[in-house]
Amino acid sequence: GLAAGLFVAWFEEAARLVRRDRDRLTALDAAIGDADHGTNLDRGLTEVVKALGETPPESAAQVFAVAGATLIRKVGGAAGPLYGSVFRQMGRMIEEPVTLAGFAGAFEAGVVALERLGKAALGDKTMVDALVPAARALALALRDGVGAREAFELAARAAAEGAEGTIPMQARKGRASYLGERSVGHEDPGAASSALFMAALATVTA
Ligand code: ADP
Ligand code: MG
Ligand code: MG
Repeated sequence: GLAAGLFVAWFEEAARLVRRDRDRLTALDAAIGDADHGTNLDRGLTEVVKALGETPPESAAQVFAVAGATLIRKVGGAAGPLYGSVFRQMGRMIEEPVTLAGFAGAFEAGVVALERLGKAALGDKTMVDALVPAARALALALRDGVGAREAFELAARAAAEGAEGTIPMQARKGRASYLGERSVGHEDPGAASSALFMAALATVTA
């Protein structure tokens, strides 16, 4: 099974990537939002890593519960509660021992929770446009019987392509939607950070 430590490593690596790309994420948000996405998420993930370090979790469910609650509590703005809802739902769904199928099912449920909370669909130029393709890629990888590392690499690629695909979209949810047609031509910052989350998962999986 996939051990709780793998998911702690996931958040550590996601925190590292978001710190590395903080200014790029904030610049994306400066173009179509309020220029805080990189700093918001950097602060939130730093707190997640701290919380996970203080009480080493014994199960994947605990990792996701702590991460979700911390993101909701510490990240102002839209992205904190939205990412928080993904991970809290994953925490409710995931069972030990964590198999790739179990992970994929929990992730899918997390994405559905995000879609319910944010009421965004594919094509609305949000993190949904990176996370739904990632969930689909995981389902296909499962069907094809590939291992976790390859499955997560496929999900990461799908998320990155999904994020890039937001560039020509007009935003219909969140702050960027206030810009109307002027939101076209910029990558959505939340989709970009979602791609970093998926890249981090592939990196930490042996
Ligand atoms: P805020 O917009 O409050 O400043 P952030 O800048 O941290 O919050 O996050 C903005 C990102 O949140 C957007 O790029 C988008 O991906 C995502 N987002 C905003 N509203 C929604 C929504 N209703 N559903 C899904 N994602 C959303
Ligand atoms: Mg913002
Ligand atoms: Mg804001």
